[in-house]
Amino acid sequence: MKKLLSLENLTLLSLILAVFFGIYFKEIALNIKLFGDVFLSLLKMIIVPLVFTSVFTAILNLESLAKFRDLGLKAFLYYFTTTGMAVFTGLVLVNIIQPGKGASGVSAKPEEIPKVQEFSLENLILGLIPQNPFEAFSEGKVLQIIVFAVFIGLAVLTIDKFKQEIIKNFFEGFNEALIRLTKWVIVLTPVGVFALVSYLIAKVGYQVLISLWEYALTVLLGLLIHAFVNLPLIAYIFGRYNPYKYFIQVREALLLAFSTASSAATLPVSLELAIERGKVKKEVAGFVLPLGATINMDGTALYESVAAVYIANLYGIDLSISQMVTIFLTATLASIGAAAIPGAGLVLLTLVLSSVGIPLEGIGLIIAVDRFLDMLRTAVNVWGDLNGAKILNRYVNS
Ligand code: ASP
Repeated sequence: MKKLLSLENLTLLSLILAVFFGIYFKEIALNIKLFGDVFLSLLKMIIVPLVFTSVFTAILNLESLAKFRDLGLKAFLYYFTTTGMAVFTGLVLVNIIQPGKGASGVSAKPEEIPKVQEFSLENLILGLIPQNPFEAFSEGKVLQIIVFAVFIGLAVLTIDKFKQEIIKNFFEGFNEALIRLTKWVIVLTPVGVFALVSYLIAKVGYQVLISLWEYALTVLLGLLIHAFVNLPLIAYIFGRYNPYKYFIQVREALLLAFSTASSAATLPVSLELAIERGKVKKEVAGFVLPLGATINMDGTALYESVAAVYIANLYGIDLSISQMVTIFLTATLASIGAAAIPGAGLVLLTLVLSSVGIPLEGIGLIIAVDRFLDMLRTAVNVWGDLNGAKILNRYVNS
């Protein structure tokens, strides 16, 4: 019985009910959007503190500045390069396949679409540094929050060990509580799905559902390309090992990631397999894998970029090149801030959508097929971490 009433089943049931409700009770469906909006606001509520605490605690776990220089910088370089490749793959595919294009006649009112600042290197660099961290927090400027978290985290690594421990415990506790809160909000998914999907169906018609398949297939294809082409290429070039053999060696971790949809839950197994079978040095695996589980999420980043363009297509919004660049950057950053638990990518998706003014209610549709895609993207997230450990192993002496 408990299994029957699992969150996935309830979400699926509420999706089916929402479709009928949206078709047959149009008037009511158009008026229950409030519940969906509450759900979205709850998701948004978690973003800022979660991004800060996850990046800040990840830096504190580096333990010393020397370790940051030795291993941390290389790890960050690997994380950014591969996540960037993942998002790029997602964006190329979604622009070729164009899921959701012409699926509904909806278009966002021009006044709903905020003007995005034209992309320029100067804006990008200046935009990195928070002149006032509190303003960055209150306005939800995630990039600035991450930069601040890294800087202050590195500074904390240089102070007295006793004080360091106090700060670390405090923020780790806070981070744990935020992850708990995320889980609570995710429990409300069936209600959110019901309100958002029935509203959307009432507004735009059920044809919109057909495009959902195209979207899911685009994500799937992107994840496969990243897992079997991009990452193996990087592994071969920089790690000089056979990535497919390594894939077989660590398969249990990937299966576990797939079935739990949680990088965090998979961590103990990834550690064991990378060390035992992948012959990665213990200190390298012990550093790269936990850090990667929190901030390196290639699959999540890819899915967020595809989801954003898909929802924009549904609303008939034509995205400019500079908006694509914004999606590229925010999807990369959003994946850094996402927690390593099921459904966390969804929380940060609101951020990617708002960055270019795509209506958030489209998320209702995405959630409907999210669990399955979450399982796949988590496996890719973990596969990215495992390759990171194996590649960096080559560059660390001792
Ligand atoms: N479930 C993913 C993970 O744990 C995060 C996400 O929802 O994308 O890696």
